[in-house]
Amino acid sequence: MPTNQTREPIVAANWKMNTTPTEGTTLAREILAQHLPSTVQVVLCPPATSLTTVAQVVQGTAISIGAQHVYWETSGAFTGEISVSMLAGIASYVIVGHSERRRLFGETDRDVQLKTRAIHLAGLTPIVAVGESLDERDSGHTHTVIRRQVSSVFQALTPKEAGSSVIAYEPVWAIGTGRNASPDQAQDAIGWIRDTVAITHGSDVADRVRIQYGGSVTSDNCVDLLRRDGIDGALVGGASLDATHFATIVLAAT
Ligand code: PEP
Repeated sequence: MPTNQTREPIVAANWKMNTTPTEGTTLAREILAQHLPSTVQVVLCPPATSLTTVAQVVQGTAISIGAQHVYWETSGAFTGEISVSMLAGIASYVIVGHSERRRLFGETDRDVQLKTRAIHLAGLTPIVAVGESLDERDSGHTHTVIRRQVSSVFQALTPKEAGSSVIAYEPVWAIGTGRNASPDQAQDAIGWIRDTVAITHGSDVADRVRIQYGGSVTSDNCVDLLRRDGIDGALVGGASLDATHFATIVLAAT
């Protein structure tokens, strides 16, 4: 199994339902003003209403834009939804399967599979979020749950699509709670996720997939988490709303 050095680390900022277009522009400028290492792919995922303005701020830089949400249909009577073709030219990445969408908006494994396929067909890169709840962890079902979530998506992908996907291991109990997974817990789950991809697509493909950790990553705990082999970066919520904290996390991913 190759180490982190063979995969470009990726740190994505999930701003969730925060920032107006003006606030997003300011935050993106503050992030751009930080000394960000060129060896880490940085992705900003503002809310849909700020995608265009934030994309303009980072245009011509190494920073990419990600969307937080998409629908798999191409067009039609789907009030409030956004299609992949509407994102093309603005975003390069799309977060899919985030636990907040699964838990609060009823997104299923099947939805995540359909969205991930649509994202790839549009030439964008999915950041597929998976992770167990506290009950599932406490009852010893962590591996079963994340294997189900990952298999459901990856069995529907071609090997090329699978290898270019990003996965975010995000234990539900760690998201927005201030309680991060320990480096051992994160590394164990991420190893299991990579093995799961290998079962469907072989180890060459699994070795190419970048797997992030997400869940209460801060400028204080990032080094311990991100220096572990196999953890290829982070999906960052709360701490990504502060440019200096976010830059510290990006630096830790080198
Ligand atoms: C997230 O939104 O994916 C996330 C991990 O949030 P936080 O960093 O705030 O826990």
